[in-house]
Amino acid sequence: MSFKTIFVKLIIIVAAIEFILMTSFHFLLLLPPFLELVVDVFLLALLSTPFIYHFVLRPIEAVFIRQKKLEESMLHLSNQFIDNIDHEFDKKLESVLKVASDAFNDISVGAIYELNDTTYRQYHRYIKNDKYPLLLPNTIDQEDTAYLNDKLQHKQSLFFCQNEDSDQHLIKIFNVKNGCILILPMFSREILEGFICFQTFSTQEFHHDELLILMFAAQMIINAMKRHAVDQQLKKYSNALMQTGDAVCITDKSGIIEYVNPAFEELSKYKQNELIGQKTSIMRSGFHDNTFYDGLWNTIESGKQFHGDFVNKNKSGILYHEEKTISSIKNDEGEVTNYLSTGRDITQRKAMENALRELATKDKLTNVFNRNQCDLFYENLIERIDKEHNLYLLLFDIDNFKHINDTFGHHQGDSVLKKIASLVQEAIRPEDILIRWGGEEFIIMSISENDHSIQMFAERIRITVASSTYDEIPQVTISIGLSKHDTGMSKEMLFEQADQAMYHAKKEGKNRVYHFRDTQTI
Ligand code: GH3
Ligand code: MG
Ligand code: MG
Repeated sequence: MSFKTIFVKLIIIVAAIEFILMTSFHFLLLLPPFLELVVDVFLLALLSTPFIYHFVLRPIEAVFIRQKKLEESMLHLSNQFIDNIDHEFDKKLESVLKVASDAFNDISVGAIYELNDTTYRQYHRYIKNDKYPLLLPNTIDQEDTAYLNDKLQHKQSLFFCQNEDSDQHLIKIFNVKNGCILILPMFSREILEGFICFQTFSTQEFHHDELLILMFAAQMIINAMKRHAVDQQLKKYSNALMQTGDAVCITDKSGIIEYVNPAFEELSKYKQNELIGQKTSIMRSGFHDNTFYDGLWNTIESGKQFHGDFVNKNKSGILYHEEKTISSIKNDEGEVTNYLSTGRDITQRKAMENALRELATKDKLTNVFNRNQCDLFYENLIERIDKEHNLYLLLFDIDNFKHINDTFGHHQGDSVLKKIASLVQEAIRPEDILIRWGGEEFIIMSISENDHSIQMFAERIRITVASSTYDEIPQVTISIGLSKHDTGMSKEMLFEQADQAMYHAKKEGKNRVYHFRDTQTI
C-alpha cells in the first residue's frame, strides 16, 4: 500500500469521525452556542492537521533537509586538498567528484575533462550509479571541442537532455541516451581549461544554490589541477638543480642564502643548513676589493646579469676559483625578489693558466722575469716618472763566469745564477724590476731621485753579490753598467748606454759600478 493511499484513507477516517462527533455533539449534547463553536473549531483543526502537514510542513522540511545536505556537501568539499596536494592527487580529485555527485540523488556519473590545445580528454571520472550504461566519451575531437568551447566561453553552465528541444549536436557529442547532462566550465585566470560534467537521471534543471555547489567543486578541481601541475614542474626543476654539476645558490634581495644545491655544498665544503640564513660574504676570501663587489651589486640591482671569476674561501679556509653568473629573479610585477647564482670550480683551470703565464713571463731557471716582459715594464715605468724622479737602467754581468763553469761545472754555474737572482731580488724594492736579460746578464729598471741615490743602490747590489758565499766557489762578483733615462731618449739608447757603462766596468777591472755619464768624462 502506497503512502498516498494510506494518507487518503486517513483523511476519510478523520472526516468521518469528525462528522459523527459534530452531529452527536449537536443533537445529543445540546451545548450552549459558545461551547459548540469551540468544539467545532477544535474538530476542524483536527481534520485539517494532515493537510497542513502534507502541503505546508513537509515542503518546508524538504527545503531544510536539502539546504542541510548542500551545506554539508559544501563543508565536505572545502575540506578537500587542505593537506599535501600532491599526495594521492588522483584520489583527492575523485573524492571531490564523489562529494559533489553524492550531494544529488539524481547524479549518476561525474567526469573531469581537460583541454589539451584543441581537444578534450576525460581526465578522471566517478561512477556513482552504473545502472545506466556509461556513455560519456573519453575524448572529444577537434571540431566538437571548438563547438563546445564556443558554447562554454561565456556560460556558467550548460544543461541539456535527450529531448527534441535540446541542442542535438551536444546530445551527439555526449552520447546522451537517457537523462540529462550538466556541464560546468572550469576557468583559470579567465582562460577555459576544461569542464566537469554530470550525468543525471532526472530532467529537472538544477536550482541556483545547487549549481553553486557544483561550480564551487569545479573551481576547486581546476585550482588543484593547476597547482598540481606547477608543483610537478617545480619538482622537475628542483631535481634538475639537485643533480646539476653547477653550484647553484639562491639568495634574497639582501644576499641572505635561501637555497644551495649539493654541488654548491661540495664546492664550498659547507652543509646546506650551515649556509641557509647566512650572507654570501661567508665565502669571501678578501681577494676582491670593495670596487669589485660594488660593481657586482650595481649590475644585478639594475636587473642585468653579472658574470665574473671569484676567488672564494671554503669552510676549511682554502681558496678556490669560481666562474659565476648572477642574475635576478623577478616576480609577476617585475620586481626583483631573489638572486640566482650558478658557478663552477675553475681552480684547476686557473692554476694551469697561471703556470702558463709564469712560463711565458718568468725565467725557468732563476724565476725572475724574462726579457719578454721588458717592453711592458719599461712603458709602465716611463708613465710613472715625474720631475723629481728618473728612470735608471742597471745592466750587470757575472764576472769570469766561463771560468766558474769550466772549473766547478755547469751545474754549479746554474746554482750561481739562481743564487745571484734571488739575492738581487731581495735587495731591490718591490717596485723595481729585475729581468734576466740572457745568459748571465741581468737588468734592473728602477725609479730613483738622483744619480747619487742610484749609485748607492747599485753599489749595495754589487756588495751583496760579492759578499755572499757560493758553496765551494771562493767568490762571485758582478760588473754593473748604469744609465739614466733622459727626456726624449729612446729605450734602445738607454740600453746601449748601460751596455757601454758595463763594458767600461769590465775593462776597469770588474766587480764595480760604472755610470754611463762617467764614461764620457774619462
Ligand atoms: P766576463 O767577466 O768578461 O763577463 O767573462 P765571462 O767569462 O763571464 O764571459 P761571458 O760573459 O762572455 O761568458 C758567458 C758565459 O756564461 C758563457 C756561457 O757558457 C755561460 N752561460 C750562459 N748561460 C748560462 C746558463 O744558463 N748556465 C750556465 N751554467 N752558464 C751559462
Ligand atoms: Mg756575459
Ligand atoms: Mg760574464
